[in-house]
Amino acid sequence: MSRILIIGAGGVGRVVTYKCAQNPEVFSHIMLASRTLSKCDEIAADVKRDTGHQHIVTAQVDAENVPQLVQLIKGFQPELVLHVALPYQDLTIMDACLEAGVHYLDTANYEPKDEAKFEYSWQWAYQDRFKEAGLTAVLGCGFDPGVTSIFTARAAKHYFDEIHYLDIVDCNAGDHGKAFATNFNPEINIREITQKGRFYENGQWVETEPHEISLDLTYPNIGPRRSYLIYHEELESLVKNYPTIKRARFWMTFGEEYLTHLRVIQNIGMARIDTVSYKGVDIVPLEFLKAVLPDPGELGENYTGETSIGCRVRGIKDGQEKTYYIWNNCSHEAAYKETGAQGVSYTTGVPAMLGAMMVLTGKWSGAGVYNVEEFDPDPFLERLGQYGLPWQEKVGLDLEL
Ligand code: NDP
Repeated sequence: MSRILIIGAGGVGRVVTYKCAQNPEVFSHIMLASRTLSKCDEIAADVKRDTGHQHIVTAQVDAENVPQLVQLIKGFQPELVLHVALPYQDLTIMDACLEAGVHYLDTANYEPKDEAKFEYSWQWAYQDRFKEAGLTAVLGCGFDPGVTSIFTARAAKHYFDEIHYLDIVDCNAGDHGKAFATNFNPEINIREITQKGRFYENGQWVETEPHEISLDLTYPNIGPRRSYLIYHEELESLVKNYPTIKRARFWMTFGEEYLTHLRVIQNIGMARIDTVSYKGVDIVPLEFLKAVLPDPGELGENYTGETSIGCRVRGIKDGQEKTYYIWNNCSHEAAYKETGAQGVSYTTGVPAMLGAMMVLTGKWSGAGVYNVEEFDPDPFLERLGQYGLPWQEKVGLDLEL
């Protein structure tokens, strides 16, 4: 029986609220707070209707305002704050958790608004403060980062003495019927995808031009899809926590149509994150673009097909080279039917709920700031299928990489 405060009423917040409400024995009291109260109320009404959970309340909050957050937390008294607003708010919410004495969990690492750059340094810097306060901060507990990191922890714990090569492969073979839309917050998504590519090799980071390296990879139940090397945040913590890794890369599939739109958006300056003056009003082109693009939360209704995300690993066990692949496939249609959100929000929200459950039931514990691969992967993966994301694994196969 625990109280949880969920911050962020977007697509992911919707799924997290559903998933917590489906497990009232752990999440007995739920508060959903976000910038726009009406969005919280709408989600809360759907969740109450579909799950029958009796104790869901909502609130308005500016998650960039620490005193406001502290007041909200002290008033509701949750054991944990689950943050699924935007990465810009990671540090203010961590500050508020420290001040109010509650655990913290998020799904994306901190990113300053004025620079398209994400790295863990800002949040790792909270290590001593969380330790001294006896509180747990769980970083990156969505799917990627999140489940991909926990899949890697399973590989390390049960299948390898040393992991040498890690390739995280992320395929969205879904079709939402729109010419162009992003699957999660457009601003964050476009900032991530238009960055230079980066991978880790022999102790160094190697930079590439955006989408410079690509190849066809075959995804279970989907088939071959063109996959592009991009930088993704979990690579940073995984190479630190598994120092035997010689090379770590992240691959994501994009359709031709999507990439063409992205190129045009960049070429005409709509991906800019600096301020421009328009008719005397200061606007940020990327923020304006977000306002006119389809809301990712609304994509679910006609979304068909599935996602397939996993880890392909090569390394050594008992002196022998070994290969291993672990993955989950998630259907957009099934996700929408259950929660009213599409598969990308679903694959993020389920692990976030389960991570919170791990902390609140004492399966994951410790004072300090943790990336998810630092915890025991077993209790999490034992339950992941039961909560909606079944996974599969194969040993001794051609990894194509
Ligand atoms: P959305 O844009 O749909 O939702 C974000 C929500 O946060 C909105 O409801 C927004 O409010 C709210 N918000 C924004 N700023 C503030 C603020 N200052 N104070 C309070 N609330 C605020 O995003 P998603 O649901 O798609 O994504 C949520 C998070 O999940 C993001 O951080 C994203 O990076 C992460 N993510 C992680 C993935 C993973 O696998 N690890 C995958 C996909 C997403 P309003 O409604 O008023 O705009």
